[in-house]
Formats: sequence, structure tokens, C-alpha cells
Amino acid sequence: MYNAKSLKAEEFISDEEILDTLAYADANKDNVELIDEIIAKAKLQKGLNHREASVLLACEIPEKIQEVYDLAKKIKEDYYGNRIVLFAPLYLSNYCVNGCVYCPYHLKNKHIARKKLTQEEIVKEVTALQDMGHKRLAIELGEDPVNNPIEYVLESIKTIYGIKHKNGAIRRINVNIAATTVENYRKLKEAEIGTYILFQETYNKKSYEELHPTGPKHDYAYHTEAMDRAMEGGIDDVGLGVLFGLEMYRYEFAGLLMHAEHLEAVHGVGPHTISVPRIKRADDIDPDQFDNGISDDIFAKICALIRVSVPYTGMIISTRESQAVREKVLPLGVSQISGGSRTSVGGYAEPEQEEDNSAQFDVSDQRSLDEVVDWLIDLGYIPSFCTACYREGRTGDRFMALCKNMQILNCCHPNALMTLKEYLEDYAGEETKAKGLALIDKELEKITNPKVKQTAYEHIHDIGEGKRDFRF
Ligand code: SAM
Repeated sequence: MYNAKSLKAEEFISDEEILDTLAYADANKDNVELIDEIIAKAKLQKGLNHREASVLLACEIPEKIQEVYDLAKKIKEDYYGNRIVLFAPLYLSNYCVNGCVYCPYHLKNKHIARKKLTQEEIVKEVTALQDMGHKRLAIELGEDPVNNPIEYVLESIKTIYGIKHKNGAIRRINVNIAATTVENYRKLKEAEIGTYILFQETYNKKSYEELHPTGPKHDYAYHTEAMDRAMEGGIDDVGLGVLFGLEMYRYEFAGLLMHAEHLEAVHGVGPHTISVPRIKRADDIDPDQFDNGISDDIFAKICALIRVSVPYTGMIISTRESQAVREKVLPLGVSQISGGSRTSVGGYAEPEQEEDNSAQFDVSDQRSLDEVVDWLIDLGYIPSFCTACYREGRTGDRFMALCKNMQILNCCHPNALMTLKEYLEDYAGEETKAKGLALIDKELEKITNPKVKQTAYEHIHDIGEGKRDFRF
């Protein structure tokens, strides 16, 4: 029985409700009256439920899809402005006891190089990341209670936050580790992580079990209920995601929104972010073996509909996507992207040798962080290295309140400009620096509150004089 408030996976992600939703969407995909009603509701910018959004996803009427794209762009501008937050993944260990059939870290893969960074190696990697200009990391690990116990994760977080190299600092660590216990989530919270990220991979229980044939990740309920345990452990910023390509995308999309609705219904706060990874080629993985790959156009439609359905949830696109695809979806609602990424364990301080491959998947966008920053500026975005919200305690419902009231623009805009200025002073190439400084001058003028504007001017000036880490 479907129940968004239930704490049981099979009730809040009810297979029956998803199938009913898909049938409803099919039945109404040409129902222009209903589609117009749904779009009118979406224009209120308070989101859509999974049924409404699924009708729009099924709809193939070009003018209606265009309306959704236009609305996604408007919502992105209204809620997030032209800022794009940058981060990098840091793979700490690829030891893994699971059997995920799409991931080269699966236990049976004997030819991938297994690596786990020591604390000394972490210092080297993070120093290299700081030298690129990164301030925000997402740490990634395979699941292995012996090689990657929670103590290793906690020690690594402490090491990373403690590295002070030149003007560098990692100010926010998001964590992408396997589903764990309330107690461990509490420890992660105490270690001051930002967002806890866990991709559902697929919401379809039957497929999930087939795709995760062995290991602790096989347990669908334990995995699907992880965000509830994370919230019980005090983590109020959680990041959802589906690995597109595994199952039918319309099924996944409905499941993803139902998960968001469930978190809102039970905890009063929806997901902080949604990621939209697609399966990529990897060591012993051929993405063509999976039948449900989606085209770039469907991918863009999904991004636009996520933006329209959960306006207050950040959307993340990684370097799994090419420059061209990233360029296509950025205006449709993306708020965070990775740049200069390595998906190997180690590889930032020294590039990995080919015969020593430990990467999780092939990176499509291989540009350096500076190239990505330069490109964003050319496209009219403000590359942001801001980490202020969670450091100011604006997490969970406090962040959501800020976001839902569209107040995000009042403090995020100057914060983005100040962190960009830090980047330009410390790490940018000459061309990027010149463009970036001109952008900051132009964007400072847009701040309407005179007091905020004056303070932002002063801080930006002080950053030029060597001071760091201002925030609103
Ligand atoms: N082991 C943890 C877990 O079970 O959630 C951490 C996740 S893993 C390091 C990060 C994510 O990469 C996975 O959740 C999965 O969605 C994605 N991934 C795995 N194999 C992939 C592939 N071949 N292409 C693209 N993404 C992949």
C-alpha cells in the first residue's frame, strides 16, 4: 500500500503506485487540458508531485515540452541565479565487497587495481586539489567493513579538514558511502560533513536485487531507507540520485520524486541535492550491456522536470557528462558541477599509470578546473566556491526555508563573488582572472541591498589585499 509517510521502503516507494502513475501518465500524455493545468501549477514555482511530473515526462507535444524548458530556466534563474557551485570527487578507496553489476569495483573484478589512500596520501591528494582551487569535496568509497570501516572515513575527514596549504582549505566535505547505521550517520554528522549522498541506483526492487546480486548492498529496504536513518542520525542535508540506464527512466523518475516527497512528509525537509548520473564505460563495464540507456534529449527533459518538480533542491551534474551535454543542461536547472575530476583512487597529485587503473568510470569532461571556470564565465555563469550555508548552520529546513522563500539570492550571490575572487587571486590563469574580475565588477552592481553591497565591496577589496574566507 502506498504511503509517503511510511518508514518502510516498499510503502513509500510503492511499485504499485509507480505503475499506476505511469499508466496515468500514458493515459494523459496528450490531454492538453490537464497538461496546461499542471504547467500552470508548476508556474507557481512550488513544485509538482510525482503524478503531475510524470504526465509531463510522458508528454511529447513539442510546444508543451518547450514550455517546461522555459519554466525550468526561469525557476533556475529565480532560485539560483547564474551561480554554479564547483566541487571535486575524491576517491579514498575502491575496496568493495558488493557485487553491483554496473560498477567495476565489484568484488569479483580481479584485474582492477585495488587501492586505499593512507592519511599521508590523502594529504598529497588534497594539497593538489587545493592547488587547483577546490574548496568542496565529495569523498567516495567502496563498501568494505574491513578495509573501509567508518573509523577510516572519520579519520580521513579529519585529515582533510585539517590540511592548510598556502591559502587553500577544504571547507565542505560531502560524503558518498554505502548505506550505514544511525550510529555511523551520527558520527559523520559530528565530523561535520556537508551532504550525505547515496544514489538509489534503481527504485525498482526486482531490478535492484538483480543488479546487486551479492553483498550488503543487495538489501533493497536497507539501502532505500538509508536517508531516513541519516536524518535520524542528525544529517539534514541528504543527496538522492538514480543511475540512469539501469531501469526504465520513467519508473526511476517517479520513484525519485516519491523519495523526495517521502523525506518532506516524514522529516519536513526534502533532499538537499539530486544527482543524475548515467552509466559510463569502466574497467570491466560496457554501458551498452544495459538496455535502458537514455538519449541526451531525454536526459535534458529529466533535468528540466526535476528543476520544475523540486525547485528548492540543488541538481548536480558530474564529469560523467561531456562538455556539450553539460552546456545543454546547465540552464535547465543545474546548480553544482564537478571540475577537473579524477575517478581513480589517487591521481590528483600524480596521474595514474594506465596499467595501474583504479578508476570507477571514464570521465567525459576532461578539462582542468581552470578551463571549466573560464568556460562558465564565458557562458554567463558565476563559478562559485561557496560553502557558507552549512558553516553558518543553514542546513536542512533552515536552508530550505531560505530557498523556498527565494532568499537564496541575497546571500549566495555575494558569497559566490567573494569565493570566485579568492579563486582568481590564488589559482586562476591570466585569461580567466581578467574575465573573472570583470564579471565580479558587473555582478556586484546587481546587489540591491545597499548594506550588503557595501560589505561585499569591502570584502572583495580585502581579498585582493590577501585576506580570506568572508561569508554572509
Ligand atoms: N559504494 C558507495 C555506494 O554503494 O553507494 C559509494 C558510491 S560509488 C563510489 C558512486 C556512484 O557511482 C554509485 O552510487 C553509482 O551510482 C555510480 N557508478 C557506479 N558505476 C558506475 C559506472 N559504470 N558509470 C557511472 N556511474 C557509476
